[in-house]
Amino acid sequence: MVFNLNSSNVATRENRIGSITGYIGTLSDLAEQSGCGTLKGCSRCFSQSSTCLSSCALGQLSAIRDVAIIHHGPAGCSVASAGAYYLDKVMAKKRGVTNNTVYVGTDMNEKDTIFGSTDALRRIILEVNKRYSPKAIFVTSSCATGIIGEDIDSVVDDVRDEIDVPIVAVHCEGFKSRIWATGFDISDHAVLSSIVQPPK
Ligand code: SF4
Repeated sequence: MVFNLNSSNVATRENRIGSITGYIGTLSDLAEQSGCGTLKGCSRCFSQSSTCLSSCALGQLSAIRDVAIIHHGPAGCSVASAGAYYLDKVMAKKRGVTNNTVYVGTDMNEKDTIFGSTDALRRIILEVNKRYSPKAIFVTSSCATGIIGEDIDSVVDDVRDEIDVPIVAVHCEGFKSRIWATGFDISDHAVLSSIVQPPK
């Protein structure tokens, strides 16, 4: 499955390139089927204690200098920001640069996870833009917003005229894929579809 840069969604690694998280069989069969692209091995239907693909996506995006990440979800999901913040600062210092990227959680409560909170999201986007003047804004989903079908694409489209930097919705619900590296695809997709221009 190819990337569609006109859509804010990106297919999971399971669907796009047939990645698997479990396999029962012989090594020779594994090698042969991997080679010809016919591998099917989704025998493991449950996993835990792995990382969340949101963390991969948002950690990668936050390493871009001077942008804003608005993580639309409960505070528990935004706890990944602590690790991303630390890593970004350390890496920036090692490279002799400054990274003023901000990572803001929308702190959805119980009521928000039932009725949605797109109005609050809209206000938060405008406030973050005013307060931090980022060079780009990534508005990201979480499991909670994915489950209730929060329409972050419409919110982003709605505020686009009021924001003079690239802004894009990033669909990184943690439940989307059992392969957390899908999060890296999602962050790359967001950058390609919102910031990178086609070659002239
Ligand atoms: S996005 Fe989902 S999997 Fe990730 S931290 Fe939040 S609830 Fe957990």
